[in-house]
Amino acid sequence: MKNQLDAYWMPFTANRQFKQAPRLLAKSSGMHFWTPEGRQVLDAAAGLWCVNAGHNRPKIVEAIQRQAAELDFAPPFNMAHPKAFELAERLVELTPPGLSKVFYTNSGSESVETALKMAIAYHRARGEGSRTRLIGRERGYHGVNFGGISVGGIVSNRKMFGTLLAGVDHIRHTHDLARNAYAVGQPEHGAELADDLERLVALHDASTIAAVIVEPIAGSTGVLLPPKGYLERLRAICDKHGILLIFDEVITGFGRTGTPFGAQRFGVTPDLMCVAKGITNGCVPMGAVFARQFIHDAFMNGPEHLIEFFHGYTYSAHPLACAAALGTLDTYAEEGLLTRAAQMEGYFADAVHSLKGLPNVIDIRNLGLVGGIELAPAANEPGKRGFAVFLDAWEHGVFLRTTADTIALSPPLIVEKAHIDQMVGTLADCLKRVA
Ligand code: PLP
Repeated sequence: MKNQLDAYWMPFTANRQFKQAPRLLAKSSGMHFWTPEGRQVLDAAAGLWCVNAGHNRPKIVEAIQRQAAELDFAPPFNMAHPKAFELAERLVELTPPGLSKVFYTNSGSESVETALKMAIAYHRARGEGSRTRLIGRERGYHGVNFGGISVGGIVSNRKMFGTLLAGVDHIRHTHDLARNAYAVGQPEHGAELADDLERLVALHDASTIAAVIVEPIAGSTGVLLPPKGYLERLRAICDKHGILLIFDEVITGFGRTGTPFGAQRFGVTPDLMCVAKGITNGCVPMGAVFARQFIHDAFMNGPEHLIEFFHGYTYSAHPLACAAALGTLDTYAEEGLLTRAAQMEGYFADAVHSLKGLPNVIDIRNLGLVGGIELAPAANEPGKRGFAVFLDAWEHGVFLRTTADTIALSPPLIVEKAHIDQMVGTLADCLKRVA
């Protein structure tokens, strides 16, 4: 008989390794997954940074069920359904002032493509069509589509795919172990790295630059926090040169940092903000781009019967996604989840920093309910040690995420102290075993 695991080519997965020893999930609830054999596993990663309210929350489940029975699909071009508007109004109540328009997508990657296109088209619409250049940052992750990998800075996500988008450049990343190792919260050193944008302005001229995109906290590259003053400085340089600032808040959005969005936690408002994941608690694919009013308004010229922005997806504002998002926002509001990470931050920080001194640990980073534990790579085998920790933790009842040799913890925002003790305690044992 043909191997039943054969046909599925899995994304971002070591396929051959997986198929020799599959890790399957059959059920979920609250802070936990269960395997088909009934083994309970603590979810220390909120699925994939998305199940912020915990798994299988009743309001969200019911909202999806009701919606599927009532209106399964509504074409989003020149048509709409009421929940799309209701959700947009609810969402902009949560954003920093000024980010008052919502454009729906179906994923973080699509949010990024949408924001990049919006930035270029915005400048063109107001008569500065020479501003086409996009600036990303080394080690950035902005999804997997061509725009996103072009502005992104993770080498393995770029190197297989040719020349990527033209007219893209990168500022330096902010990771600085020599100066900032074991910082609690935002690191002290590195605000001046934002000045790298001035270098690119000097090289290309501001009149060619449309936008800069950064993650407030870079997640997928291994949890890199913004140094104190860095995002503020980036904002000031963008303002000085008429460059749009895009925050990719796909993982920092919806309560991860202790405020609804990272923008509020760090006190810096971007011009465009990409979200996904926690917008529906991960239950139905959805993303969105928040835009400043002036960006939207720049498009609202020309004859009124014409489309203003030639962009959108078949599944933009999908009824199931809108229903799931409304159920999610209700759940967040009722349980105070969008600020809960701030209450748990101190306990979580003490717990993750207690791992200092364990074998191969070279740095620990934390903010809100995000933790990063960086390990020294094994000689000539980068990523192997991190993967070994991931497998060992899974075997011992904790699902966590590793990227290369950094372990990322991002539990659902309903996490209790006992869960934190379990995940960090298990991880401590793993580190001793795997060393
Ligand atoms: N941007 C950031 C910062 C992300 O962390 C991710 C996913 O992890 C994405 C974009 C891509 O999102 P998606 O996988 O939904 O396309």
